[in-house]
Amino acid sequence: MKAARIHGPKTVTCDNVDDPTIQEGRDIILKVTATAICGSDLHIYSGGLPQPRPMVLGHEFMGIVEEVGPQIKNLKRGDRVVVPFPIACGHCFFCDHHLPGHCENSNLNITARKGAC
Ligand SMILES: [Zn+2]
Ligand SMILES: [Zn+2]
Repeated sequence: MKAARIHGPKTVTCDNVDDPTIQEGRDIILKVTATAICGSDLHIYSGGLPQPRPMVLGHEFMGIVEEVGPQIKNLKRGDRVVVPFPIACGHCFFCDHHLPGHCENSNLNITARKGAC
């Protein structure tokens, strides 16, 4: 699939990337129907934040559910959803304390647990 990716200051390209797959039981694959560039993306674009590897832009979006992981019980294929910036599990210490922006399970690809950075 195609994705707009930022590579560093003032460098955005439209790249071919791997199609998404369900990797965790609580994953969902959406067909994104609308998204936008966020102010936090602009910090990377302007060089204010380092970007260690290419990142797909548009972390606030809406779309149609195409596939759900086996742990998802409240959504099904065809449902329309809106996704805000804090993708949170709802079960960890921080989510239990109403701090979803600090969720320990938000994006495992950027934590040391999966060794990406
Ligand atoms: Zn944002
Ligand atoms: Zn959480």
